[in-house]
Amino acid sequence: MTPGKLRSASPATKLPRWHLSRANPPAHFMHATATPPVIGISSCLLGQAVRYDGQHKFNKTVDRLGRRVLFARVCPEVAIGMGVPRPPIQLRGCSESPRAVGVDDPQRDPSAALIALGRENAGKLALSGYIFKAHSPSCGIGSVPVYSEDGGITGRAHGLYANEFLRAHPLLPVIDEKNLARNRLQYRFMLRVYGYQQWQALRAKPLARNLKRFHSGWRALIDNRACRTRLDRLAAASRAANVQQTTDRYFFLLLTALKRHPMIEDSPIIDCRFQRR
Ligand code: SF4
Repeated sequence: MTPGKLRSASPATKLPRWHLSRANPPAHFMHATATPPVIGISSCLLGQAVRYDGQHKFNKTVDRLGRRVLFARVCPEVAIGMGVPRPPIQLRGCSESPRAVGVDDPQRDPSAALIALGRENAGKLALSGYIFKAHSPSCGIGSVPVYSEDGGITGRAHGLYANEFLRAHPLLPVIDEKNLARNRLQYRFMLRVYGYQQWQALRAKPLARNLKRFHSGWRALIDNRACRTRLDRLAAASRAANVQQTTDRYFFLLLTALKRHPMIEDSPIIDCRFQRR
């Protein structure tokens, strides 16, 4: 599997249905959707038979989402030459710095190759988000069991490949397919994806008026008043001399705030399902 192959999605002009819901002022999504965001994805979720047992993990929600975005698909284990089928691996050691080793043969240790690929792709792929396969020792985020020598679970960690992405891009919106199936979390993820995409576009042309215009579209989604006030100040303070620095601070705060969005978590009025073709 070649890392970074793009799978085309549906026409970018179609907006998700939740774009029109009353919780969302329309303006802030319009330029984001002019170009569909590129989202990294674990290949097996797209139905590619790349798992250790020669199977796939096709996911309907992912497939539906693919009509709105571009996917950069990667199977790290295949990309480092482990082949299909292959003996399974698991995380072993302590949860702070586990290694990926063979379930049956702990001497087989592709950890260094997975970490190196994660680093390389994190530097190479220009992504606005990433959908990882849950529980995978390479792709999982946060939920991967770490085993001790005697087979007990000592804790949970990120898969080794995914961990490098999170390390290199701490603000990159990430989710696994389990959480993607939950409408509110899917909504929150996509909101952050569009925010991240716009941040990247704004950084390329750091004009103060761009940040102010951007902020006028997004501020209604910031439910936390203290956060909104800080963002108001940052947007107002951006000037030609410091706009790059201010933009970075602004987006750090915005993307952090969108991670915990009480309105999105709790409100029953938000319809975040995607429109069927
Ligand atoms: S979880 Fe990751 S490493 Fe495992 S088959 Fe899927 S894409 Fe490949």
